[in-house]
Amino acid sequence: MCAFAQKVSINGKEGYRQLSWEDFKGKVDKASPFTAVTHWFLSWNEGKPAKDAHGKPVLQPEVEVSFMGDSWVNKKRDLSPELLRHEQGHFDIALVCAAELAKQVKAASFTAKNFEPLMNKLFDAAYDKCARLQEQYDAETGHGCEEHDADQQRWNSFLAQQLSNSPAVALNTL
Ligand SMILES: [Zn+2]
Repeated sequence: MCAFAQKVSINGKEGYRQLSWEDFKGKVDKASPFTAVTHWFLSWNEGKPAKDAHGKPVLQPEVEVSFMGDSWVNKKRDLSPELLRHEQGHFDIALVCAAELAKQVKAASFTAKNFEPLMNKLFDAAYDKCARLQEQYDAETGHGCEEHDADQQRWNSFLAQQLSNSPAVALNTL
């Protein structure tokens, strides 16, 4: 039994790993000031049907975080490992938020009646938090620009520490 019902996928393939530029398959926005853009997607589904110890059906929604194939990189510009690390950070932030949501879902007392509204409430709050963190990340790291190297390092350490507690990452990197 998984402690948290959480799924991670990259371009539709289940599992977590470090990204490579090959994963950025989307159409390049040449007018963009950015060299690369990461699109992530957070979602939930009703999960696998399960029963409690008394044989009563229980709700076990599953949280999913995806790295999307429309993420793009402009290979005509300078690509550095640091920039890739920055983009990985966007995906990792989404993962941290998904793990937190999965934990809340696990702790929630769902009934047939409150299921939809409660799940939507938890999801919306997690999604908003994730969007805010993504903005904060870009503001503090200057979208991964070199002058903000120290801030990028700080985020890298923070995310590595957060993800080391994530069962989904542990399961997928074994
Ligand atoms: Zn960025």
